[in-house]
Amino acid sequence: MSGGLEVCLILVSRTFYVLTQAMTLYYHEQEETLERNELEGLQLAKLQRLLCEVIKTNPFYQAKLGNIQPAAISSLNELRSLPFTTKDELVADQEAYPAYGSNLTYPIERYSRLHGTSGTSGGRVMRWLDTPESWDWIMKCWGIIYRAIGLKDADRIFFPFSFGPFLGFWAGFEGAARLGNMVLPGGGMPSAARLKFMIENEATVIGCTPTYALRLAEVAAEAGIDIAASKVRALIVAGEPGGNIPETKERIETAWAARCFDHTGMTEIGSLGIECVEDRGNTHLIASECIPEVIDSDSGEPLPEGDLGELVITVLGRWGSPLIRYRTGDRARLTYEKCACGRSFPRMLGGILGRQDDMMFIRGNNIYPSAIEALVRRFPEIIEFRMQQMIQGSLNSLKLEIEPKASVEDAGSLAAAVRDAVRRQFNFRPEVEIVAQGALPRFELKARRLVK
Ligand SMILES: [Zn+2]
Repeated sequence: MSGGLEVCLILVSRTFYVLTQAMTLYYHEQEETLERNELEGLQLAKLQRLLCEVIKTNPFYQAKLGNIQPAAISSLNELRSLPFTTKDELVADQEAYPAYGSNLTYPIERYSRLHGTSGTSGGRVMRWLDTPESWDWIMKCWGIIYRAIGLKDADRIFFPFSFGPFLGFWAGFEGAARLGNMVLPGGGMPSAARLKFMIENEATVIGCTPTYALRLAEVAAEAGIDIAASKVRALIVAGEPGGNIPETKERIETAWAARCFDHTGMTEIGSLGIECVEDRGNTHLIASECIPEVIDSDSGEPLPEGDLGELVITVLGRWGSPLIRYRTGDRARLTYEKCACGRSFPRMLGGILGRQDDMMFIRGNNIYPSAIEALVRRFPEIIEFRMQQMIQGSLNSLKLEIEPKASVEDAGSLAAAVRDAVRRQFNFRPEVEIVAQGALPRFELKARRLVK
């Protein structure tokens, strides 16, 4: 072989190696690793394309935005001149124009997918339609998510739940299949059967809620199944806090001997948040596909980077059912400091830190249920719990029901220890009630531990 040809072959094989490595690390390397100013340029270009498309035919945003000229939005700062979109507005719109509302950019025949919100917070279910193009965009987001958690070709992903109208199930499932991974549907069977199915099919990654990851671990322990010795190496958890509560995450990781990644999304905004392999505890927002803002909930004004406020999202790729400046009701703080994974996407420090609606006010303290969960999870003797804010005149208090493991002999001491831990951390004494084995509900989907 001539020297020139040899060098050429080496270069080609090296290039191929570098490319395949990059393909595994990233889904869309160029968009994921832009400098911040380039990222903002990309967001602006996508925003203008979105506005051009939406303003022509979408009745909901035509009414909201009036005669806006997309070209007039020439910087991300000018995005702030546009009004917010709220969930109440969307729900009212769907009630006024049943069944799907007027936030539709195209004729109804163009839509091929229906999903819906769970209705757990407000009790009202919201329907959401997608065109094939919007669905492809959601698949792109999942490509980015799976690469961020280090998904490899050989990974097999298990989805242990019945597939309802929740977007996340279908999107995560199909997103993995599009990458060519084996996907394992685990609906329509009890938890013990799911564990058997998971082991027989050699699942390596599980997608579920944090609560259900713990529930499966509980069932495995009862059935004598050693899940720590299974092939599962990672769990992607979503749908509720937990993946970002260090105490809950640690409990999941210990039980499964696997890494637990926090993922965030909503049926109406899509799947936009993921913790990457390099940065444990903080959750990226896929900012090539959305524009995140953090605002003061009362004034609506933008907050400086790093301040805690309400997360507002403009969804850039879902033209069929868009959301512009959507107030998510989630509390978060963002950093744009570049991550060790190389992505320039901002990170929510500590993930989503709470929901506005769930904040409790007890004895002078603003407390999110996730703070109580973090405290309770420090007690390995407690298998399940539930909380309720008690209104007693002007002094609210907290009632905590705790279900100890069967092995706990002195439940009274456990209750006293929990009471004491709450008092030390939050300066009030909760009412702690020990309940019988199995008395508290177990959840497959979104857990409801805050009784309202
Ligand atoms: Zn990262």
